[in-house]
Parts: sequence; structure tokens; C-alpha cells
Amino acid sequence: MDCQTLLVDADDTLWENNVFFEQAIAEFAARFEPLGYSPADVRRVLYETERRNVPRHGYGVGCFRRSLEETYRHLAGERAHSDEWAWIRHRARELETTPPRVLDGVPETLAFLARRHRLILFTKGEPVEQAAKIGRSGLSGYFEAVEILPEKDTATYEQVVSWHKIVKRNAWMVGNSPRSDVNPALEAGLNAVFIPHSMTWELEHAELRSGAGRMLQLASFRDLRRHF
Ligand SMILES: [Mg+2]
Repeated sequence: MDCQTLLVDADDTLWENNVFFEQAIAEFAARFEPLGYSPADVRRVLYETERRNVPRHGYGVGCFRRSLEETYRHLAGERAHSDEWAWIRHRARELETTPPRVLDGVPETLAFLARRHRLILFTKGEPVEQAAKIGRSGLSGYFEAVEILPEKDTATYEQVVSWHKIVKRNAWMVGNSPRSDVNPALEAGLNAVFIPHSMTWELEHAELRSGAGRMLQLASFRDLRRHF
């Protein structure tokens, strides 16, 4: 394929992310057992809380901690215990400092792609938090640029296209999220590569929609080498 611009997502595309949050949620939910709530009850309230908080407070551990605290306050009510607030703070701190676990085949695939194509890392979230993960991943050298924006929607795709003078028909968004990677990229007129991850965050799920561009679905990041 001729030289393309590949916009590459980070969390759950280059490295594991949601699995660490899932572990924290499972532990959090288990702590409600003495209060008579099932893990499903706790998750339902937590996801509702996150849906409300994310638009106001953004993506990242800070917002997740706030959502855990609000869920706890809501469900425990009068029975709230100070140990639990301490546990939430401690667990959020652990998430912030967990080193990224790069997914299988990613470094060698990026090395292969960077020789042929232009790579731009495009992620959403807290700039400081995301930049720290990118730094610790050791992968930043493969990218011509890194963009960390508060949201990935059609408007921010248009911004990135304009900032980097991207020719849409020769550009692809590569990522695991239907909501943030595939749908808005196709709507903006780019192409998309969907690489599902079994642990994709609840809030990233969406029905895949079609758009002007082409969509490829691959089983693993490594498979990019067969197409690019
Ligand atoms: Mg992702």
C-alpha cells in the first residue's frame, strides 16, 4: 500500500488499560457484599455514575476515583465507613502508577509500519496521565506526533486532520473502540481499522456505523502488517 497516515489509538490498542480498571471494579464490588449488594448492582450504579461524570470531568483515573466515591456514597448511605474512602484513594493511586503492559506484537509491528507509513498517536484523556503512559511504554519513538485530546469525536478528528494536513482517503484510524475510534473516523471521512479487545470499557461500546471510508476488522495489532 502507498504511504498512508495511520492514527493509532493507545489504551487497549497498544497496551492493556481497561483490564486494570476491571480488576479494581471487581474488588470494589466485592466490598459491598456485607451491605447486601451484588456485583451487578454495584456495576450498574458505577456505570451510570461514570456516564454522568465523564462529560464533566473527562477520562482518567481522577474521574474514575470520583465515580467510585459517589457510587459508594450512594449505595452505602448511612453505613459508609472511613476505611472504604481510604481504600478507594489507595486503589486509584495504584492505577495511576501501574506501568503500561504493551500488547503482544505491538513494538515490532510499529517498527514495521513506521518504515512505510506516517504514524500519529491519537488518544483521549488527561494529558499528564496519558503522556506519562506513552513515556513509560517506550513506544513514542515510532510516532511522528502525539495528540492527546479530551474527546475523540468527529470534530476532534477534523482538528487532527487539519493540524497534520492529512489526506482523508489515505488515512486510517486504528483502534479498539467503536465509539471513539471507528465511528467518528468514518463519519469524518477517514478509513478505520477496528481491532476489538475483549476487555473494552463499557462506555466505549457502540454499534458500528458505516461512513464514507473503508473499514477493516482485524484480530490483532500484528495483523496490520498484512494490510499496510
Ligand atoms: Mg482504546
